[in-house]
Amino acid sequence: MSAPIAADHVRRWSDHVVQLEFPSQTLPPYASTWITIIHDRGEAFIVDPGFSQPAAADTLAAYLDFLRIKTVVGVLITHAHRDHIDGLSYAQQGVASGAFVGGHPDALTQVAHGPNRRHLNHDDRIAIGEMAVTALYTPGHAEGHLCFALPDGGMIGGDLVTGSGPSYIGVPGGNAVAYEDSLRMVAERKPVWLAVSHGPAIRDPSAAIKRALEHRGRREMQLRVATQQPQPLGALVDILYPTVALDARLYLERSTLAYLEKLMTEGAVVNLGGGEDGPYQAVPSP
Ligand SMILES: [Zn+2]
Repeated sequence: MSAPIAADHVRRWSDHVVQLEFPSQTLPPYASTWITIIHDRGEAFIVDPGFSQPAAADTLAAYLDFLRIKTVVGVLITHAHRDHIDGLSYAQQGVASGAFVGGHPDALTQVAHGPNRRHLNHDDRIAIGEMAVTALYTPGHAEGHLCFALPDGGMIGGDLVTGSGPSYIGVPGGNAVAYEDSLRMVAERKPVWLAVSHGPAIRDPSAAIKRALEHRGRREMQLRVATQQPQPLGALVDILYPTVALDARLYLERSTLAYLEKLMTEGAVVNLGGGEDGPYQAVPSP
């Protein structure tokens, strides 16, 4: 039996974990979500069924047959962004009928689903075949974001990072303090592989996480320098993102606000105005 999806849309991370790429309603520069199958002894979890086209459910079902999977035990959600859950109802009408939906309570409140759900918190273990997968609480990109650790030391990363850099962190929902804590927590675990949802495959998880932290550190430093003089939000967006397309600007404002919220939490920057527009000014070091 030949695989029902072209090889360049498949990533096999281990004997138990494979990712399939499907078109999704995601943020540029991406146009797809890599959906993960975790399987052992004929049982499977589907992680983040974020496909936008109903036909993807048929391809997913055919691939599960190809892997000789008899039962989809659960659908796991790393977080509730639409490019991770759009296909949930299609999956529940087909391959995942009867499966539980598992995710962090803060994410599951944002997902429409039936009564068969399972709240997953940090370090909870969920059985699949003769294996156990461990949920890791990694908020920051989204409320209630989870990663899933596999017994071989690999990890399913959701949107912890993308294949080409840090994930989008924007308010509301995003939290820059929590995001950097989550990156550090995952880095300490030294995942041997890291299967994320968007972009090229990550070959060196530790280096990718280090790069994401460095990138955020550089952005933060730019903001600290730029706010030596009081600056409104719009001017700070121009400084951080000088060549941005207009349709991306709203996202970049939300992202800049998330950085500013972190700096204000740390007491490094104050908002001199009443609202989100600022102006913002750095607090001089003593
Ligand atoms: Zn997301």
